[in-house]
Amino acid sequence: MNVDPNEIQKFESLAHRWWDPDGEFRPLHDINSTRLKYIDDRAAVAGLRVLEVGCGGGILTQSLAELGAVTTGIDVASGPLKVAQLRAIETQMGEKIRYIETTAESFAEVEPESFDVVAALEMLEHVPDYRSTVWAIAKLTRPGGTVFLSTINRNAKAYVMAVLGAEYLLNLLPRGTHDYDKFIKPSELASAARDAGLLVKDISGYSYNPLTRGCKLVTNPSVNYLVYAQKP
Ligand code: SAH
Repeated sequence: MNVDPNEIQKFESLAHRWWDPDGEFRPLHDINSTRLKYIDDRAAVAGLRVLEVGCGGGILTQSLAELGAVTTGIDVASGPLKVAQLRAIETQMGEKIRYIETTAESFAEVEPESFDVVAALEMLEHVPDYRSTVWAIAKLTRPGGTVFLSTINRNAKAYVMAVLGAEYLLNLLPRGTHDYDKFIKPSELASAARDAGLLVKDISGYSYNPLTRGCKLVTNPSVNYLVYAQKP
């Protein structure tokens, strides 16, 4: 299975902290409106079937449902999924959101070509073989559908910002959250997407300032970046 148990353990142990906007997942809360707008500007999600791969406690899945999408979130960490489910019930979104414990590869066997939009944000740098995940994502997307991916670039600046800065200087993320070797260059991710039969339409960086908690899209994908692709 394309799962790293050490990675999953990190997310399991912090499941109860997921919805604390000032807790360990604070960066995900801070960047959420920027990435949500990026997706909605390109895919207009209201009424569409949207899948999030590696949804964790459901920050993005929940906000996509609030925009009117019929959402499914999948993850292999059961604790975060339970937290996500609870959040959906508490906010009366239970009918619009389905959470399932599975991998992209397994789910692609069960529900191929079933989603108008598939997103895998901030998760590819946590799987052993991201190319296999991208392949499964393409299979899950209906022909004509849209794919969104995001991850962290692999270069000196990304190391300083995402590992040294976030985990050691600012104590923003728990130490060991990110493994530099698993970071992915935009050219590598674009090539994985093309090999999976997707057409890459845009790559944008996003710049996150942990001090001001501001996040905005930038042209240079030097640290965090988003990929928008279509399945022909
Ligand atoms: N996408 C969410 C959560 C990011 S944290 C967001 O951006 O808000 C990364 C998530 O990926 C964790 O919940 C982790 O359990 C999940 N994950 C890691 N490897 C996975 C795999 N192989 N299959 C599915 N989910 C995985």
